[in-house]
Amino acid sequence: MQRLQLRLGLERLMLLVRAQAWRDGDLATLHPAQQALLAALATEGASLRIGELAERLGVSVASISDSIRTVEAKGLIERAVDPDDARARRLSLTSAGVDAISAIRREDNGLAQLLNVLTDADAASLLRIVQLLIEQAHAQGLVRGTRTCLGCAYFLPYANADTDPERPHVCAYVSVPFAEAELRVDCAEQLAQDDAIALAENVLRFRDRRRG
Ligand code: SF4
Repeated sequence: MQRLQLRLGLERLMLLVRAQAWRDGDLATLHPAQQALLAALATEGASLRIGELAERLGVSVASISDSIRTVEAKGLIERAVDPDDARARRLSLTSAGVDAISAIRREDNGLAQLLNVLTDADAASLLRIVQLLIEQAHAQGLVRGTRTCLGCAYFLPYANADTDPERPHVCAYVSVPFAEAELRVDCAEQLAQDDAIALAENVLRFRDRRRG
């Protein structure tokens, strides 16, 4: 019952956010998949090959071809010859694309507006839950190429909890403890944990708040 209500609530929220994105003047002609494509290029901060972009989005190259063509026709992205391989092309945002992504991310847009109601503590709790849900989606093959802390080989959940409960986790990449509120959902330094046993252990440790 509880999970059904949660599912219904989340589905309702997703519909609301999508509907608002479609109504928004600047974004009215951008499908959510096209917005995700622009966001991936913006997050990377550099050009990407089409295959790399597909991997970031967790989809096949074939399935993003239409979106690429559409946003390219709108002047939001551009292609350039890959300096490492003259046969390959790299995609990057144009200045119009940068403006579009700023509109998508502005504080009064869609999901950002809904999240404004949360206290910092609630936002940190939700960020923690989002880590678990994304990892579950990854485990079920629903997404690929996610770059969360929970899926990262450098992540040591609750390894510092006894020393500093306010900063319970450790990022071994920089050997620094950090708070729940500082968990990353899309970290450029992430190294995907490819040891399935270690990943499963980390997920359980994180979920159960087990100290390391
Ligand atoms: S490298 Fe990034 S994703 Fe990995 S633990 Fe550190 S902050 Fe998190």
